[in-house]
Amino acid sequence: MLDYDLHCHSSISDGTLTPAEVVNRAAERGVKVLALTDHDDMDGLNEARATAAQHGMTFINGVEISVSWHTHTVHIVGLGIDPAYPPLAEGLRSVRSGRGSRAEKMADALAKAGIGGVLQGAYRYAGNPNMIGRAHFARYLVEAGHCKDVHSVFNRYLAKGKPGYVPHQWAALADAVGWIRGSGGVAVLAHPGRYMTGHKSMGKQTIREMLTEFFECGGQAIEVVSGSHTPEQYAEFARYAAEFNLLCSCGSDFHGPGESYRDLGRLPDFPLGCRPVWEVNPLNELIFGNMSSSPADIPPDLAVGHAKEGG
Ligand code: AMP
Ligand code: MN
Ligand code: MN
Ligand code: MN
Repeated sequence: MLDYDLHCHSSISDGTLTPAEVVNRAAERGVKVLALTDHDDMDGLNEARATAAQHGMTFINGVEISVSWHTHTVHIVGLGIDPAYPPLAEGLRSVRSGRGSRAEKMADALAKAGIGGVLQGAYRYAGNPNMIGRAHFARYLVEAGHCKDVHSVFNRYLAKGKPGYVPHQWAALADAVGWIRGSGGVAVLAHPGRYMTGHKSMGKQTIREMLTEFFECGGQAIEVVSGSHTPEQYAEFARYAAEFNLLCSCGSDFHGPGESYRDLGRLPDFPLGCRPVWEVNPLNELIFGNMSSSPADIPPDLAVGHAKEGG
């Protein structure tokens, strides 16, 4: 098992726990290295870092940036970022700025589909009103009795192609990667398996074009072990990582108790041969205290994933 969880959310974006609660839960569940990666907002990092210090846990500053690539929305995780880097802070402010009007359009679209008055209800679920998003709508629609759980709301109303879905222009791929890299962080493509399922999803040719562009503009890793991947997808994306010369990352993508595919905590090992994202700085230095990012400096059991059955 990997005791690294490099992707999760707090109430600063669309998680249900505060940053301190997320860190406490991760510590209880055996996580040794944690990155908080809220969508498009870094305001939870200080609280999370202070809480992690109380547990003697290694904390990595993170963010998950919403990106529009052609007709697709993709998410880029930044790890080891510097929240004070002005282009990153300003870039994220611009990404967030469209969420209010998008929420109004979503409420209008849902009203046309026969569900009125959801805007106020959705905002009640947004711990940070600047980050109003689909998960907050989903939670309210469950409360109002329209669906039995959040996943059903997405399937019926909020996923691409459904009546409450409103297309939106997020950051450009090269900008998001550039803000992350410019701040000293590592750029990771989040949950690639998600882009290959659902309405008008990417085929194999399209994901290859995206990975090529991602690598060319400075992307360094893809999530191989993700809460939204099946074990078959761990193997599939380990092969893409090798093909595109990308490192491998892992994270639960936890949003709240009872709401996520996978809770915070230890994750299954990488498939054999994966090179972990913590081979490179700043992660190598943050985790192991190494100034050099030479793979020779990494303890042998971490230098490559070591597959154990069933983890
Ligand atoms: P937004 O950034 O407002 O478009 O919201 C995207 C978020 O909605 C994701 O980060 C997930 O938290 C959530 N989400 C997207 N698709 C689904 C789904 N099929 N089931 C549950 N949650 C989803
Ligand atoms: Mn989310
Ligand atoms: Mn995501
Ligand atoms: Mn996420």
